[in-house]
Amino acid sequence: MTDINYKMDLLVSMNEKLALDQRVLKMITDNSGDMYIYYDFRNGLNVKLYGNWDRIAGNGITNSPFDRAYMSSLIYDDDWKYFMETFIDMEQRGEKKASGEVRIADKRGWFRCDGIVNYDEKGQPVEKLLCFSDITRMKAQHEELQYLAYYDSLTGIFNRNHFVSILRNMCEDAEKNKTSVELLFIDIDDFKKINDSIGLLLGDELVQAFAGRLKEYAGDFIKAGRFGSDVFSIAIYDPGGTRRAESVYHDVCEDLRKPFVLSNKKEVRFTISGGVAEYPEAGRTAFELVKNAEIALFKAKEKGKNNIQYFEMDMLNSFIKSVSTEERLKEAIENEDFELYFQPQFFAADNKLRGAEALIRWIDENGEIAMHPTDFIHIAEKNGAIIPIGNWVIKDAMRIVSEWCETYNFPFILSINISAIQLDKDNFVDSIRHALNLYGVKAECIELELTESIFLEDSEKARHKISQLRKMGFRISLDDFGTGFSSLSYLKDLPIDTLKIDKSFVDTAIKDKATNIITESVVDMVNKLGLETIAEGVEEQKQYDYLKKIKCDVIQGYLMGKPMSKGDFEKLFIGQITD
Ligand code: C2E
Ligand code: MG
Ligand code: MG
Repeated sequence: MTDINYKMDLLVSMNEKLALDQRVLKMITDNSGDMYIYYDFRNGLNVKLYGNWDRIAGNGITNSPFDRAYMSSLIYDDDWKYFMETFIDMEQRGEKKASGEVRIADKRGWFRCDGIVNYDEKGQPVEKLLCFSDITRMKAQHEELQYLAYYDSLTGIFNRNHFVSILRNMCEDAEKNKTSVELLFIDIDDFKKINDSIGLLLGDELVQAFAGRLKEYAGDFIKAGRFGSDVFSIAIYDPGGTRRAESVYHDVCEDLRKPFVLSNKKEVRFTISGGVAEYPEAGRTAFELVKNAEIALFKAKEKGKNNIQYFEMDMLNSFIKSVSTEERLKEAIENEDFELYFQPQFFAADNKLRGAEALIRWIDENGEIAMHPTDFIHIAEKNGAIIPIGNWVIKDAMRIVSEWCETYNFPFILSINISAIQLDKDNFVDSIRHALNLYGVKAECIELELTESIFLEDSEKARHKISQLRKMGFRISLDDFGTGFSSLSYLKDLPIDTLKIDKSFVDTAIKDKATNIITESVVDMVNKLGLETIAEGVEEQKQYDYLKKIKCDVIQGYLMGKPMSKGDFEKLFIGQITD
């Protein structure tokens, strides 16, 4: 092969290789989704475009010379100056690399721009490559992530994490400036009920609308956040040291007089409970403030909602006690460490046994009373443990009644205390029917004691259940009359058979003229309505005599017999039968 042929072949193969490299390069740039501008400075300025320009810029940019005016029309005005300074003249400043982000002209998207310049040995620019990547989606995702990191997605106010970090900063500022921070927790009263009645979606709408109102209080020194489903938090830092949590709470309450109008045009109103923990008294860290404001909020709920409570050390102690009771109760439920005691009830007219009230006793490992029901029933009601406890009581009471009916064949009524939480359970009527059938007990032998709150709430559901129970033959009694609302006028409409007058009433009736008159009117009216009256907590003979005189039907109290074990009660039973 001649030299010239050899060179010719070499050139052809080099050309082929070059063409192949160019094709590969073109494929890469075209498919990268990015846009490139290549500047060749060697023979005057020569500009070439590669990549995906058509998608956003059309074919508007002329290849040579580089069209600055057109480029500026692609980039958002406010970013053009920055773009020029950073990328267009970078070779004049001798810069080798630059990168940055600019908005696309219509502001709907973002470019990331990277520039590289190569220089010759004399420092003269040889070539420059600008690469534009569309980062609109990445940016949106990033912004969304950032938003989610700080804000609650439903309401747009600060989320729990960010709120706590703001609170932490406020505590640090308060420490430096020797001033205070207040943390106010706000909880919508009976939110679960509202949610059940309007549905989850409108419930969300309500939460959003309420957050919207809270947002209006936010400013330089007041920050609002959402802590949980219907729990909101407001942190107040006042450099001047003025404490404002209570007035903010009252302002929000005032605001709530205006109803919320939801998208279904329905108006919803609610009240709120508030709990406050103050720095430094109630906690020196954000964590402590949160914990203690929550405890104060619990207290406000316990006090009947629609009020505000400030954290006090006593609350923490009783909270710790109730947490330990909860733990012990859990174990007691598993081991069924309970026993029923029975307190006899006697007809006032002839002193004959009417029946008994079943009262739960929690028995510890030494066979002693672990804790009285007044100390644990309300805790069990709060944490839901009343359901298994109540089920146990119903079953055990039925079991014992069936045994007594078989053994003694004596007319007898056993009263069982039913908590509002139990009655509220959807399957309550079925479960009590099941227990009745399981032990073959007649419903007429059982009286269910309910408290006033059930009737006061005027819940259709509760009334329907009560009427079902009465149809089945159960007697219904209203327990603790005189401790709550106790309106005489509403008594006449209640679906009850028996009214139990509370000990507090009985105690004052013979001492206080006014209570005396009220007690007499109650008994008189209840008699006229054809209902039975039982006086509770009768400890003295003169109380007994008085109650008998005013025609109270049944007497229950220490005077006649304290709550006693099943064995002791059976002895009393036998005494009655043989009398
Ligand atoms: P209650 O239903 O009003 O029961 C009457 C309470 O008064 C009983 O207290 C009883 O021992 C007490 N008592 C009765 N006579 C006298 C008296 O003459 N003087 C005094 N000082 N007290 C008297 P106990 O057994 O401690 O129960 C307290 C409350 O706990 C009950 O009040 C009831 O609300 C609740 N409870 C008790 N057992 C149960 C249960 O099985 N289920 C539910 N849900 N609650 C229960
Ligand atoms: Mg009772
Ligand atoms: Mg009672």
